[in-house]
Amino acid sequence: MTLVSRTTAPRRDVLLGAGLVGAFALVTACTSWALAPDGAQLVAAFSVAALTVAVDIGLLCLPWRRLGSGFLLAFPLLLVAGMVGLAISTDGIAASYVGLFTLAFLYVGLTQDLVVVPLFALVAGPGWLVCLGNASPQTVVRLATAMTIWLSIGWVFAARTRRDRVMERELIARAYTDSLTGMPSRLLLADQIARELAAPGRATSSVMVLDLDGFKSVNDTFGHASGDELLMAVADRIRASVRPDDCCARLGGDEFAVLLRHVDLPAAKRAAARLLTEMAEPYTLARGRVALTASIGVASLDGAVNAQEVIRDADLAMYEAKSAGRNQLSVFECDMQERRAARLQLETELRDGLDRAEFELFYQPVVHLRTGAVIGTEALLRWNHPRRGLLAPDTFLGASEEIGIIVALGDWILREACRQAASWQPADPTRALTMAVNVSAREMLASDYVARVRDILAATGLPGELLVLEITEQQLVTDAPLVRKRIESLRDLGARIAIDDFGTGYSSLAYLREFPVDILKIDQSFVQPLGVDTQAVALLRSIITIADALNLDIIVEGVETPGHVEILTTLGCEVAQGFHFARPGRADHIAEFLRTRGLQSLPAPVPPHLR
Ligand code: C2E
Ligand code: MG
Ligand code: MG
Repeated sequence: MTLVSRTTAPRRDVLLGAGLVGAFALVTACTSWALAPDGAQLVAAFSVAALTVAVDIGLLCLPWRRLGSGFLLAFPLLLVAGMVGLAISTDGIAASYVGLFTLAFLYVGLTQDLVVVPLFALVAGPGWLVCLGNASPQTVVRLATAMTIWLSIGWVFAARTRRDRVMERELIARAYTDSLTGMPSRLLLADQIARELAAPGRATSSVMVLDLDGFKSVNDTFGHASGDELLMAVADRIRASVRPDDCCARLGGDEFAVLLRHVDLPAAKRAAARLLTEMAEPYTLARGRVALTASIGVASLDGAVNAQEVIRDADLAMYEAKSAGRNQLSVFECDMQERRAARLQLETELRDGLDRAEFELFYQPVVHLRTGAVIGTEALLRWNHPRRGLLAPDTFLGASEEIGIIVALGDWILREACRQAASWQPADPTRALTMAVNVSAREMLASDYVARVRDILAATGLPGELLVLEITEQQLVTDAPLVRKRIESLRDLGARIAIDDFGTGYSSLAYLREFPVDILKIDQSFVQPLGVDTQAVALLRSIITIADALNLDIIVEGVETPGHVEILTTLGCEVAQGFHFARPGRADHIAEFLRTRGLQSLPAPVPPHLR
């Protein structure tokens, strides 16, 4: 496996080395001239110097990555040059040339990690003998001095270059390996994919990108050391689940990828499904057991132009799997790119929207079935989008939850709804109006949520008893102990808790008993079939019976027709909400509705929702 493709541009140390050798060539010529200034020796001196410079330039012109072969080429040339120098000279030229020869080899040898000194001893040894045999004592002294200076300079330079190269190698190794898991990095994975793309039969290879679901909460709960421990365990599982010649890499954070060599898409999907199952097995960490899942995106190398494109495709597919509810796998499709771009734009617009006050609350009256009087309202979020007009929450709530903006948005919603509810309260406290606010999981689990609700109630002057917080069944099962704690603290503030869209989620009525909730909002899907499907009445009746047994209030959602009202009244339902009474509307519109319909009168201090 080749990790490095060195740059072909001559590098600084090559240039320095080449310059040094060139300078030595010049010094060699000058020394030779000074030592033996007759015509023949002068010619010989310059020819040796010229030859050395030529070899030097030859070395320089070779691409750096082929310096190994450059060295092999330079070696015989230098050897020949040395022999020629020795043959035609008697004194200074040979000696100087030996010095040059030593340094050139020392430099190239050390920077290439070759053991050149013994080689030099072999080659230059005879040269020394010839040289010293012919030289006068004065020449030998001059020569020894010059050699010592040259060798010292060469040694220092070579040692520095060598240190640089060790550091460079370390840096390269670091860039190509993930230090925590020891897995290849994104860079190396890209290198491997590029090789696979260049190889025949590439259509049969695939890439999968895997991202852990909820890794952040492990870090937050158990600390970063446990997070690292978990990442190492995940890396081990990934490696164990694929073949040894597949390339597993950590792309960063909790994102991993695998190049499945010679594995087509159907087989890659099977491998990803297997990996998903293995990922969901609990991990035993030093600080306890952790269970979490992963989302996987799969893309084929077929038709891809480069490695970055394949990784991006698999990444897009992984995001699809996340959006589809996590713990899933998704295969890349062409329109994912557009969907992702649209999603990123939505995220930016959401952030801007909050700053530019583009959000608005609509309100839907909650009505007493028998009298038709309004006993409260539910705040429903709308977005006055600058281009797309008025948007319903299902088009942007998911994104705002994922990017976390829901916390700031939820804060605004609660404040605005409480302010509005406080302003709508009639003078007669027995006719008080409740305000229901939908709360997302992320908001409720924030550690300062209860404190914020308390502050908002205090700031707006709305009594806690008039606030209803709606959560979904899904929220109950997400982190049961924490949700339970939150619910208890919120109820201490006087607020009541409603389970929204009841019957569409995961909990059972028996499960509900474990949470101190007050109201069940029966989902509209139970109401729509009333009058059409006979089973619907039986189903609704059984929910009402059990809710009564658990001492829970009921609000029926999605009441659209007089027929619905009739059946619900027969079943003993008292409170409902739906288009039949009023569609969600702007505050001024609902204020008008409240004035005309009147409010339900109930004896104080029992909150109006309660019988
Ligand atoms: P939800 O809390 O169950 O709200 C009731 C939804 O049913 C509303 O849709 C309402 O317009 C619609 N609806 C009311 N009566 C009828 C009816 O008779 N027939 C039919 N077909 N639909 C009816 P909307 O406003 O689009 O809200 C959808 C969901 O978005 C809400 O469901 C709630 O889960 C969420 N949501 C709305 N506002 C907020 C908010 O401020 N914060 C959070 N976290 N979620 C919100
Ligand atoms: Mg609701
Ligand atoms: Mg609902």
